[in-house]
Amino acid sequence: MKKEDLIKMRQDHVARGVNQFIPAVITEAKGVLVRDVEGREFLDFSGGIGVLNVGHCPEEVVEAIRDQAGKYIHTCFMVQMYEPYIALAKELNELVSTKTSMKTMFVNSGAEAVENAVKIAKYFTKRPGVLCFENAFHGRTAMTMSLTSKVKNYKFGFWPFMPEIYRAPYAYCYRCSYGLKYPSCGVYCADFISEKFFDLYAAAESIAAIIVEPVQGEGGFIVPPQEYLGKLQKICREHGIVLIVDEIQTGFARTGKMFVYEHSGVEPDIVVTAKSLAAGMPLAAVTGKAAVMDAVENAGIGGTFGGNPVCCRAGLAVLKILKEKKLVERSNAIGKKVMEKFRSFYDKYPYVGDTRGLGAMNAMEIVVDKKNPKPNGDLAKAIVKRCYEKGLIMLTAGSFGNVIRHLVPLVVTDEQLEKGLKILDEAMAEQLE
Ligand SMILES: *Cc1c(COP(=O)(O)O)cnc(C)c1O
Repeated sequence: MKKEDLIKMRQDHVARGVNQFIPAVITEAKGVLVRDVEGREFLDFSGGIGVLNVGHCPEEVVEAIRDQAGKYIHTCFMVQMYEPYIALAKELNELVSTKTSMKTMFVNSGAEAVENAVKIAKYFTKRPGVLCFENAFHGRTAMTMSLTSKVKNYKFGFWPFMPEIYRAPYAYCYRCSYGLKYPSCGVYCADFISEKFFDLYAAAESIAAIIVEPVQGEGGFIVPPQEYLGKLQKICREHGIVLIVDEIQTGFARTGKMFVYEHSGVEPDIVVTAKSLAAGMPLAAVTGKAAVMDAVENAGIGGTFGGNPVCCRAGLAVLKILKEKKLVERSNAIGKKVMEKFRSFYDKYPYVGDTRGLGAMNAMEIVVDKKNPKPNGDLAKAIVKRCYEKGLIMLTAGSFGNVIRHLVPLVVTDEQLEKGLKILDEAMAEQLE
């Protein structure tokens, strides 16, 4: 079918609320390359929103899926158990902590993992409250939407929100909610929680969990100061609060470590993962300290499809690829190149207000100009649109839609990376004309 016809058919038959970033219609994908119905090739620097750290369709994953589909596709793990689920749980536990005994449950999506992490934390603490942050994104279900920060179009009109959810400013240094400057602020946004939040909003002993993205994703690739996560951990330990780290977008080598919390030596009580866990197969995990996870009694958590065997086989193959291809190291090398380029864009283009990143999770904030850092979402969208027309798929992000984010598959070659960054440079230069 022709591209225009398919787009028209989508408009006629697919619900309007499902977002469409760009009008690409894909027929094939491999590594960093995708081909559309017209035979045009694109460099994909979006990775299906951070899902493809190992690239599109790696041979080992495709083979594992084929093999498993020929054996059994579904039993429901709660009815008949199978090795791929158990083996992947063991690997994840060891990956998340080498010190503490961990346990894992599998579900189908990031939002569902967050839902379960919060359920488990509430059951473990017997407390109702959850503290989350400005610019957070944790999903679109009723509970996770309530944790998500951005109002339009994620929340507005979808009331009511879950009760007992509280929000504090995140360490968004470029747009500090307190108007302070790092490091002279002493990371006040974290200290605010112990100094004021528990008196003004909710008692510490009513808070079950603090849930945090260690680098915020949809909110704009916001990298907090190094000591931020440690400060949150200290507050949690002092008050018996469960620290849930949402590594759904940041996990599996994206930031130059397997998980972001390794950068600061923090030991989360629960880690939620999804996106790049299974190279595009719908799989998400809740991995937590055994004492916390096992607080929940039989049948308190679970689901029909959670930990589907085909998905778990894909996950096992992904972990093998990450290790064998040394993608953690590769992530650092990619990130270094990208940040160098982004800094040169900062110098060259007056509308780049901030550049930031950790490993290969990098972003530029597009503003009116350096003296007027008002978010310029229209310009960010125009740049991404031009990139698409020139053969590069990029994404925006940010509470104000003005952040250009980089999520290239970590199997990218140096030549592909340079080619993509050159297209981005050209698309940005055109905006000055
Ligand atoms: C994408 C994302 C989610 C939600 O995952 P879904 O699979 O879309 O439900 C939750 N948290 C973070 C940090 C994410 O990036």
